[in-house]
Amino acid sequence: MKIAFIGLGNMGAPMARNLLKAGHQLNLFDLNQAVLQELAGLGGSISTSPRAAAEDSELVITMLPAAAHVRSVWLGDDGVLAGIAHGTPAVDCSTIDPQTARDVAAAAARQGVAMADAPVSGGTGGAAAGTLTFMVGASAELFAILQPVLAQMGRNIVHCGEVGTGQIAKICNNLLLGISMIGVSEAMALGDALGIDTKVLAGIINSSTGRCWSSDTYNPWPGVIETAPAARGYTGGFGAELMLKDLGLATEAARQAHQPVVLGAVAQQLYQAMSLRGEGGMDFSAIVNSYRKPT
Ligand code: NAD
Repeated sequence: MKIAFIGLGNMGAPMARNLLKAGHQLNLFDLNQAVLQELAGLGGSISTSPRAAAEDSELVITMLPAAAHVRSVWLGDDGVLAGIAHGTPAVDCSTIDPQTARDVAAAAARQGVAMADAPVSGGTGGAAAGTLTFMVGASAELFAILQPVLAQMGRNIVHCGEVGTGQIAKICNNLLLGISMIGVSEAMALGDALGIDTKVLAGIINSSTGRCWSSDTYNPWPGVIETAPAARGYTGGFGAELMLKDLGLATEAARQAHQPVVLGAVAQQLYQAMSLRGEGGMDFSAIVNSYRKPT
């Protein structure tokens, strides 16, 4: 299939590599010339704009940093919608707010283009390994078209509902993740301060009612889980700045819906303080340092 792929950063580049490996022809566009050259070396064709990339493609995929980039790449004078042919399926995989996803899809629909939102989880490791989870907001017809292609970049392709629901699933999950990591940090630090062995405490939590992914797979306390970022100085993993971005999307969506997110707002402030301390590049589980004396 001839696919336009726009946005070839930490996530988009490995995703595009997997599509090339699967035998697709790619029309590539990014502002970064170096990544374009690298992917052209693997068989992709470089386009001069999102419009040019979309013009002769049978599917358009974008993977961009934030909502403003998505609007400009899709709706701009040289954007995707200026070039895409009527009836071509399209999907944006960026993590953005649900309203922008719906607005851009509505603009696409006005010219006969069915567009989905399909944000991902799994990080750069999952993008490289082709094991991402895609949370897809699309009509049933569009989902059926996208599913086989997304399956060449991911392992779990979940149909969440109509357009916008992929973003809703993503931000609700990450809201809970951000909060649960702080809860586990608080409990582990209290246990340590009161004098229990933290491995024993983690074992109790993980076989009791406090158990969650933040405690049993990604425990923030150093020395509890050997594969967690806490065991390697909070490097790799999911950066606190990305968590902060997702909590910002969740709290803003909640404001628009007049929905309270009390713990989400507190979590956002704690990650913001972490960012201010210069720790925004660390894995988000380093939030546990908010509860510990500096070592
Ligand atoms: P990134 O900043 O590494 O890559 C974004 C790419 O978009 C860059 O190559 C940039 O040059 C390009 N770009 C920006 N503006 C453009 C424009 N106008 N036209 C063409 N290209 C443009 O970001 P990333 O880490 O790849 O993340 C992409 C999206 O995936 C984000 O929405 C992010 O929240 C989400 N996400 C990231 C991760 C992760 O672990 N990195 C995990 C899950 C979801």
